[in-house]
Amino acid sequence: MLNIDLHCHSSCSDGTLTPEELVARAAERGVTMLALTDHDEIAGLDPARAAAEKIGMTFINGVEISVSWRKHTLHLVGLNIDPNYPPLVAGLQEVRSGRGLRAQKMADELAKVGISGVLEGAYKFTTNPNMIGRTHFARYLVESGRCKDVKSVFNRYLATGKPGYVPHQWANLADAISWIRGSGGIPVLAHPGRYTVGRHSMGKQTMHELLEEFVELGGAALEVVTGSHTPPQYAEFARYADEFKLLSSCGSDFHGPHESYRDLGRLPDLPEICRPVWQHWHDAAQLKAA
Ligand code: AMP
Ligand code: MN
Ligand code: MN
Ligand code: MN
Repeated sequence: MLNIDLHCHSSCSDGTLTPEELVARAAERGVTMLALTDHDEIAGLDPARAAAEKIGMTFINGVEISVSWRKHTLHLVGLNIDPNYPPLVAGLQEVRSGRGLRAQKMADELAKVGISGVLEGAYKFTTNPNMIGRTHFARYLVESGRCKDVKSVFNRYLATGKPGYVPHQWANLADAISWIRGSGGIPVLAHPGRYTVGRHSMGKQTMHELLEEFVELGGAALEVVTGSHTPPQYAEFARYADEFKLLSSCGSDFHGPHESYRDLGRLPDLPEICRPVWQHWHDAAQLKAA
C-alpha cells in the first residue's frame, strides 16, 4: 500500500515535533514515503533522513519557500532538492534573514492594540529562532489566554489586514523556482486554494495568470490534495493541473498534534486524472528495494 505525504513541518520551522518525532509519527500512521518541507529551512533534512532510513521509509528532501507574487504571499514546495546546492542555501538564508525584523514589527503593531510582551513570548515557542513566524506568535497568544486556539489568533490578529499583520517581501517567484530546479528538485505550488484576498479566493483570472507564469518559469507541479483543501478543491485543482500539464502532489501540511487539519498520512488519493509527482521516485525506491 502506498501512503505518501509530501508536505509537513518540524520544529526547525513552525512544527511542534522534532524531525525524528515527525518521522516516527508518520511511520505509526503507515506513511511509506515522506517529504519534510520546513518553511525556508533545510536543517531538519539530515536528521529526518537518518530516522527514516533506520526504519526503511522512503524520504524525500523538501522545503517550502515563502514567495511574494504581486500582492500575494505564495508558498512553493521544492521536492527532491539537493540541500547542499549553494544558490538554494544562500537564497533560503536570505529569505530567513528578514524574519527577525518582521517579528519585531509584528510585536510593535500588537502593542498598539494593547498586547505587550509578545516578542519574548513568541521566541519562547521557537526551537530555531531564525525561523520566528506567525505560528509562534499564535501559540504564545493561546498560552497567554488571548484566544482559544491558533486558528482564532490568526482570524483575530495575524491574518492579512488584522492588527498584528505586517506586509513582508519574501523571495520572488523566478528566484525560488530557479533555486529548486537548479538543485535538481521539482517546484510545486503549495495549497493553491488558500491564496485568498480578504475572504474571497484569488479568482479564476488571477489563478490562470499565476499558473501561466509558474509554468513559464519552470514550475512543474500543483499540490492538489492538501490538508486545507476541501473535496471540491481537489477536483478543481486536478483540472488546473490537467489544463496546465502539471504533475500533482499531496501532503498533509501537518504542523503538530491537535493543530492541523490533517494528521500525517491521512489523505485521500489523488483524483484519477492526476499524474503523481512521485512516480519516478516511487519506481526508483521499488528498484532499490528489489
Ligand atoms: P509566516 O511564514 O510567519 O507568515 O507563517 C505562515 C504560517 O502560519 C503558515 O505556514 C501556517 O502554518 C500558519 N497559518 C497561516 N494562516 C493560518 C490560519 N488561518 N490558521 C492557522 N495557521 C495559519
Ligand atoms: Mn506553517
Ligand atoms: Mn504553506
Ligand atoms: Mn506548509
